[in-house]
Amino acid sequence: MATISTFDSFIAAVGGDRVVVSNLVPVGSSPEDYQPTPQDIGRLAQADVLVENGLGLEAWLARTIDNARNANLRIVVCTAGLPVKGINPHLWMDPVLARGYVRAIRDALTQSDPDGAAYYRRNASAYDARLVALQGWIASRIKTIPPDSRAMIVFHNAWQYYDDRFGLRTIGVLELSPGQEPNPNYVAHLVALAKANHVKAVFAEPEYSPKLVQALAESAGISTIQTLYDDSLGTSGPVKDYESMLRYDTQTIVRALGGKP
Ligand SMILES: [Zn+2]
Repeated sequence: MATISTFDSFIAAVGGDRVVVSNLVPVGSSPEDYQPTPQDIGRLAQADVLVENGLGLEAWLARTIDNARNANLRIVVCTAGLPVKGINPHLWMDPVLARGYVRAIRDALTQSDPDGAAYYRRNASAYDARLVALQGWIASRIKTIPPDSRAMIVFHNAWQYYDDRFGLRTIGVLELSPGQEPNPNYVAHLVALAKANHVKAVFAEPEYSPKLVQALAESAGISTIQTLYDDSLGTSGPVKDYESMLRYDTQTIVRALGGKP
């Protein structure tokens, strides 16, 4: 079981037909303000392995684990041992750091099911190569954006690791902590930053209300992109796993910032 749908791909890729995967936070919902249901507790009670991000992304999870009373549950905290920036939990958005998630999942599945060790090792190594290829592809697309335009203002700071990896600048973040509406002074500050840095677009995810993003974009005279995926896969369409998510996001960003997607 994974907390968010974005991690399902990692588990399915490593576990193959020895594993059945489901996730706690439904596709299209935000993990940062999720309220677990009694059904979630029931499903967790029957799971062998739980894959979580950690770093406060799933603040509600400790109580859910307690309530599930599953003494055999093996818990994988994917960000353990990875280089964390401040308190930002979105490490998986960098495909290089995602390789660490895959290693952690491989090790947990191997401990939980030692007969599958060679199978999990082979699968993890094949998926690792796909992540390396994905990293190279993203880098090649981002390079087509004119250097002065490699800047983003985002709704919530899911993009720091991706931006740092690929040479984009995160100029501003609208929502500094989950559920906290920015005050008018802060929005004015972001508008000024957007103008000073010639930012071309404000980016957000479909699971958040578009109002704040549209207000900021209108004041700054720039466009709004409301279709980035990070904490969740898409409910329909092309964003059905981790790789298609990062490809879709990259094409969206590159197009909005004037590159060749
Ligand atoms: Zn997030």
